[in-house]
Amino acid sequence: MVNGIRVSGVDAFEILDSRSRPTLQVSVQTADGRTATAGVPAGASTGKLEAVELRDGDQKRYNGQGVLKAVASVTGEIAQLLAGKEWANQAEIDAALIELDGTENKSRLGANAIIGVSMAFARLFAGDTPLWKHLIVPAAVPRLPVPHFNVLNGGAHAANNLDFQEFMIAPIGAPSMAEAVRAGSEVYAALKKLLVSKGHVVGLGDEGGFAPQIDLPEDALDLLVQAIEDAGYVTGLDGVAIAIDPAASQFQQSDGSYLIAGQRHSNEDLVARYVELVRDYPLWSIEDGMAEDDYEGFKLLYAELGEHIQIMGDDVFVTNPKLIAQGASEGWANSSLIKLNQIGTVTETLQALQTCRDNGMTAQISHRSGETPDDFIADLTVACGSGQLKSGAPARGERVAKYNRLIAIARQDPSLPYGLPESALSGIHTG
Ligand code: PGA
Ligand code: ZN
Repeated sequence: MVNGIRVSGVDAFEILDSRSRPTLQVSVQTADGRTATAGVPAGASTGKLEAVELRDGDQKRYNGQGVLKAVASVTGEIAQLLAGKEWANQAEIDAALIELDGTENKSRLGANAIIGVSMAFARLFAGDTPLWKHLIVPAAVPRLPVPHFNVLNGGAHAANNLDFQEFMIAPIGAPSMAEAVRAGSEVYAALKKLLVSKGHVVGLGDEGGFAPQIDLPEDALDLLVQAIEDAGYVTGLDGVAIAIDPAASQFQQSDGSYLIAGQRHSNEDLVARYVELVRDYPLWSIEDGMAEDDYEGFKLLYAELGEHIQIMGDDVFVTNPKLIAQGASEGWANSSLIKLNQIGTVTETLQALQTCRDNGMTAQISHRSGETPDDFIADLTVACGSGQLKSGAPARGERVAKYNRLIAIARQDPSLPYGLPESALSGIHTG
């Protein structure tokens, strides 16, 4: 690991993300001749309280999605800040970036600009140490995570009628990282075959999962169960379990009700539907089961199912330590999704993970729907020891970059345990 970084150069430019939208690539050079680079992820179903991604809004370029303003933040003000001194550690650089931005939500310089610099610094501080080892904090026991492969896409990620956004397979019972990835790939292949046999188109959504024209979440879950069995695996905690991210904010109506395939649900109705799904399917985790400001709905869902499965918040927490702590004390969820660019610095992301630990909550590290080949989150997941990562389908380069990195880490360090820590599984039972 490296003590003290003097910066000799900073560069940023527009590259394309996996959805063909511009994002930033940032690189930072040190006076002793090292360079670290980061690719910045970007979401589609973003939470209202997320740190703000700066987009140009100039309709003549990339339909307003350009990131030249964020690029200018890095090569202008941030580069000036970095040149000024020797940086002692991650907390120091991240605090300086937050102060320079000066807003509550990083909207002036752009969270996309700030997180790129923050991630590049993490790599510089790691030096020759593998990034995951560098990111370990004293309270964390590193582990290889259960990959959550998003194999059926709907919602904001696909042009089909499926209202729930993500249907994931989670090889919780796999004996190793490599076997977990193999299970993901084999179930994905079985699902493709199944869809073709049923006459569905096998076009892909943004995260590499199939996007067939189906309407009901139950139909999607039936397909997954069948595909898991066709691939020769058992369903549930001993084999391959299922996790969903309905991303309910996206199908909540202006009157607060939820519309699923044309059927209207109150928040109580929606909770009742989830209870049935948990009874009928090997479902172990529900993320964003309710809309991000439906706190009453979250409390109902948590009260109903929080003893049996993982109830996770994404848009409701936006990787913000304060919101996670509030959710823990008010009973919204027992788990948080964690996304670097949702909060905007590595230090705050580590704080969010610490807040989960402090409150006995589980945490799942996540990619975004817009990705680059950057595999930072694989290392972050191993370091924090939460035992769970979602990075889309076991297909497409930007998704498998993360899974392949995990296989490589497992190979380099065979003593790392695979899977969910016992604490995350206590009390969990699936249908
Ligand atoms: P996003 O979706 O990256 O498009 O915001 C991911 C999620 O909702 O978990
Ligand atoms: Zn989500």
